Amino acid sequence: MDTRVVHAGLEADPSYGSVIPPIHQTSTYVQRAPGEVVEDYDYARSANPTRAALESALGELEGGRGAAFASGMAATHALISAALEAGDHLILPVDLYGGTYRLVDKVLTRFGLAYDLVDQRDVDAVRSAMRPETRMVWVETPTNPLLNVVEIPAVVEAAGGRMVVVDNTFATPIVQRPLELGATAVVHSTTKYLGGHSDVVGGAVVTGDADLHERVRFVQNSVGAVPGPFDCFLVHRGLRTLALRVERHTANGRAVSEHLAGVPEVEEVRWPGFGGMVSFRHPNAAEIVTRTRIFSLAESLGGVESLIELPQAMTHQSVEGSAAAVPADLVRLSCGVEAADDLVADLEAALAAAG
Ligand code: PLP
Repeated sequence: MDTRVVHAGLEADPSYGSVIPPIHQTSTYVQRAPGEVVEDYDYARSANPTRAALESALGELEGGRGAAFASGMAATHALISAALEAGDHLILPVDLYGGTYRLVDKVLTRFGLAYDLVDQRDVDAVRSAMRPETRMVWVETPTNPLLNVVEIPAVVEAAGGRMVVVDNTFATPIVQRPLELGATAVVHSTTKYLGGHSDVVGGAVVTGDADLHERVRFVQNSVGAVPGPFDCFLVHRGLRTLALRVERHTANGRAVSEHLAGVPEVEEVRWPGFGGMVSFRHPNAAEIVTRTRIFSLAESLGGVESLIELPQAMTHQSVEGSAAAVPADLVRLSCGVEAADDLVADLEAALAAAG
């Protein structure tokens, strides 16, 4: 993977030999005669070479066929609307990204989808939530924001042939390749670790099922939530250092979580054992998040710079009042790639200042 991330989807430009192909910043393509186009490039919502390069890289890294989207939510929407129809039921995790819950609960239920929230660490609970009309189990592992880890092969077995989709945003294909574990499809917010620099919003669906891929592509073109060429270039550039970054995020996640575990008043320090995501509870959570200087108070995660946030008030407002609600005293950290000692010192100072 260390080698593959550097090269995936990249071929030198045939016109001038540039190592990095040009960004095809175009909306359309000249046709020699009506319908006579180069490959399938007739209009840029339907296809763009810069997007195609990114899609091929994402497909290679996850082990399937990739489709890129304008955001992680656009990818989630495309996959669900390509795979399910009115009357179908899906199982969502009880602890999940608030936007995924909002999309299903507030938008897709209006089109006849039903869902249940299940703690997927308990496979018996997954099994007993199955209805005859259940067609998909949506897995997020590690979960956002509680960082619970779900065993993908166990869920695949419990799903008994139904579609299993894994939101692999937190783990990345460096740590976990769900398609190799039996999942039907993988979804990413490429905004996070894949892009890696907090300078682009994007998403992706990767599946090993050729028919499902075609259906996702059909929705991609029909709905049109496609990423622009420059955004595709940025995500693709980010991918090239993914393995290096994940290594450093992991070292920093470990250092920060080990430090926090020894601090009185800090409770339930959670770190899944890889990556830079750490969460913990503290009675002065709302104060702490305003006191750090290296960790910026901001939503999102997975960038080279460290971020801190209060999920209940920031990223997870949409689950408030539901079974997926998160505790008000929970702090979520996205540890970047700065020096671990600086991150620990920053948190130490913020915890002391918050009392
Ligand atoms: N999935 C997870 C796990 C997320 O954390 C997010 C965003 O925070 C998304 C999906 C949605 O991605 P985007 O913000 O790119 O639409």
